[in-house]
Amino acid sequence: MSANVQLGIAQAIGAASTWGLKHVFHRPAANFPGKAGLYADPHLIADLRPRIRDGVVAVVGTNGKTTVTNLVADALEAGGKRVVCNRTGANLDSGVATALMHGKGAEWGVFECDELWLARIAPQLQPDYVVLLNLFRDQLDRTGEIALIQDSIADALSACPEATLVYNADDPLCQAIAERAGNARIPFGIAEDMGLSQNTVSDTGMCQRCDAQLDYAWRQYGQLGNYTCPQCGFSRSNPAYAASDIRTSSNGTQLVLRGGAVDLRLYESFSGTYMVYNVLAAYAATDLCDVPFVAFEHAVHEFDPQNGRLQRYEIDGTDVLLNLAKNPTGFNQNLKIVMSDRGPKAVAFYINDKEADGHDVSWLWDVDFQELAAADNLVAFAGGIRRNDMQVRLKHAGIEARLVNGARDFLEKARAANPHATCYLIANYTALPAVKAELDELNETGGTLGSALRVATDCGHGESHPLGNAAAIDAKLKIVHLYPTLLNLYGDGGNVTVLANRARWRGMSVEVERVDLGQDIDLSDADIVFLGGGPDREQRIASRELLAQAGALRNYVEDDGVLLAICGGYQILGREWIMDGQSVPGLGIIGIVTKRADGNAHNRLVGNIALQSALANMPVIGYENHAGRTYLDAACKPFGRVAGKRGHGNNDFDGADGVLYRNVVGTYLHGPLLAKNPEIADYLIERALERQAAKAGIPAPPLPPLDDAVERAANAFMRDKLGL
Ligand code: GLN
Repeated sequence: MSANVQLGIAQAIGAASTWGLKHVFHRPAANFPGKAGLYADPHLIADLRPRIRDGVVAVVGTNGKTTVTNLVADALEAGGKRVVCNRTGANLDSGVATALMHGKGAEWGVFECDELWLARIAPQLQPDYVVLLNLFRDQLDRTGEIALIQDSIADALSACPEATLVYNADDPLCQAIAERAGNARIPFGIAEDMGLSQNTVSDTGMCQRCDAQLDYAWRQYGQLGNYTCPQCGFSRSNPAYAASDIRTSSNGTQLVLRGGAVDLRLYESFSGTYMVYNVLAAYAATDLCDVPFVAFEHAVHEFDPQNGRLQRYEIDGTDVLLNLAKNPTGFNQNLKIVMSDRGPKAVAFYINDKEADGHDVSWLWDVDFQELAAADNLVAFAGGIRRNDMQVRLKHAGIEARLVNGARDFLEKARAANPHATCYLIANYTALPAVKAELDELNETGGTLGSALRVATDCGHGESHPLGNAAAIDAKLKIVHLYPTLLNLYGDGGNVTVLANRARWRGMSVEVERVDLGQDIDLSDADIVFLGGGPDREQRIASRELLAQAGALRNYVEDDGVLLAICGGYQILGREWIMDGQSVPGLGIIGIVTKRADGNAHNRLVGNIALQSALANMPVIGYENHAGRTYLDAACKPFGRVAGKRGHGNNDFDGADGVLYRNVVGTYLHGPLLAKNPEIADYLIERALERQAAKAGIPAPPLPPLDDAVERAANAFMRDKLGL
């Protein structure tokens, strides 16, 4: 079949399906026509590309894609151009193809592209500009580790060598991509320290070239900031487009944009510091597309995408703000918006775990919810498919959250708790549309909120935690958290939070010591040691450092010290593990070795998993995501047997996970492991107390039970989901 005939068929199918979806099913046609068209003509994007006269911008990155894409498209339109754009965020090849089908006569194309799909889209689309916003941990069950996304974007860029890369130089992960790609590049960044408080987890602190620790002159949030490697000189390129003189107040944000023709002052009523990056990225792109500044300014001023991103409502006299947040960095930025409101407030978090969200919600433990516990006048609620997980997470942040079913339910309960509260709804990807639809309907119909029965207002935070009637244990517990800034993937640091809380709730006094690179490891008075999982690069750095002082950990383990090691941390306890096809020496503390399926970092064992373990009555619930396959020596006992049909654990064959050795628990289970498995947490605390007692020659105190209803509900949810 000739290419023209193929294209004609593809277009006919696309047109018919658009009509069908609109008129028969009353559904917007953001993906399907393109999907059908691509089926008929796999080169549909390339074939339609010549329709766009002046140029094409592709926008990629973890956070802010939809906002930046819409801003750039709006600015081009305000500048009098005809624009085609996948405005609703349909960012796979099907979404881009669908938009292109409507692109006849367009002068510019602006396309949001998914990070991993850019490698498929870019070779056909041949954009003039690729705008790279940032890379944060997000949906890691699709990608495994961020390094793999970097590889994929670098491949995409090499497939469109004529494209100019416009990238966020404040992000070392983007800077590293820019340095690898042969494309022309234009960096943007924030030219001053915004003085923001830092969050616990950042996606890298290490040099992308030589693995040394980066020095930051300032850090905005996550890994974004002004960094230099003291060892090899890798550093943030001087931004060609920069934002400065940033002032935020309750009325909005004022900033100066430099670069392009002139310095421009912009005053806008957007909330959230991440919007500074979004506006800056959009400004750089539009300036490069020769959009006059007045048009850009107009676009920013009028920006009201009505897509649930920072969308405001007033419903029956209540101020409501809806926003999307789908990963720790986005969430932390949202919490800052909530915290900047000094008045009474109610906040609901809606968490789903569908395909587009990622099936894993362990990232909730990388969000600094504990900051909310300091807020006055706050009530919190948990909604969405994984609301039980959300409730557990908030419980461990010191916030007692009530479950809600949707937006109306929340608004009514919030109003009953405090009629004057501003209501914040923060929802992840697939949770957002339903919440937004409910709010839109309430808004359009001028809906009145029912006078829900006045609920008790004790659902804030505070001393009345549902901790059962535990008798206090008079003991001190020291938890040593090894390399928390390197080994912290999939919420693993949450294990330390859970251990500390469960000990404190029983009256123990708890000290948590964080040991980072360059510090000596002294475990002489440690009661529990924790090692989390991490991406390959960080895992290798941590293991190198640990190997240099392996004696401390070995002696501690042989002295029956309690150690919990997860995934990457578990692997490095063995004799060797393999990375990039090369054997990396392990600590040799336990008789295990770790290999790769075929030396391939993409061949990963990923998904929710349950175990039957001798250490717990309930199934042990977790989430695995690893390229390494671990094999136990015959003398070693696993931590548990994989229950049900799903889940792998140690490797593709054994049907077992982890290892038990003395008082060591090694496992592939993230989640974090201890969040939904309180029995395992208590097992570790009990062993620690027994060891203390044995050394003192006294009997160990029994561990009184706690009220674990919330944890058990989250455990039961996953048990059901896994069909157990
Ligand atoms: N980098 C290791 C692997 O992929 C460990 C990953 C992890 O800790 N989740 O096998």
